[in-house]
Amino acid sequence: MDVENCIFCRIVSGAVKAAVVYEDDCTVAFDDINPRAPVHVVIIPKRHIDMVSDLKEKDAGMFGGLAIAANRIARIKGIADSGYRLITNCGKDAGQEVLHIHMHLLGGRKFAWPPG
Ligand code: 5GP
Ligand code: ZN
Repeated sequence: MDVENCIFCRIVSGAVKAAVVYEDDCTVAFDDINPRAPVHVVIIPKRHIDMVSDLKEKDAGMFGGLAIAANRIARIKGIADSGYRLITNCGKDAGQEVLHIHMHLLGGRKFAWPPG
C-alpha cells in the first residue's frame, strides 16, 4: 500500500480531517465516519502497516499500544464500566476495507455473540 494513497496515513498527516479523540507518540484515534454503535472509535498506529498478518515481533509494542489506547479512550468516552468490544479485521473474509492496521472500539450498546 502506497502511504500517499492510504486514507488513514492521510489522517495521521493532517491532510484529511477526522474527529481525533486520542493521540500519543505512536497512536491516533478518531470517531468512525460510519458509526456502528453509539461509541465507535478507530484506533491506528501512526506507522503504516497493512494488516495483522504483516505483524512482526518488533511490532508487538505498537499493536499492544492500540489496546492501551482503547483502555484510555473507553474512560474518555464513559464506557469503561459498561463494557466494550475491540475488533481488528484482517483481510477479505473479515471485511477489512482500509489496508492500514486498526482496532475498532465499539460501545454504548449490547453486542451479539457470535458476530455476524
Ligand atoms: P475495516 O472495515 O477496514 O475494519 O474498517 C475501516 C473503518 O474505517 C470503517 O468502519 C469506516 O467507516 C472507517 N473509515 C473509512 N474511511 C474513513 C475516514 O475517512 N474517516 C473516518 N473517520 N473513518 C473512516
Ligand atoms: Zn496507512
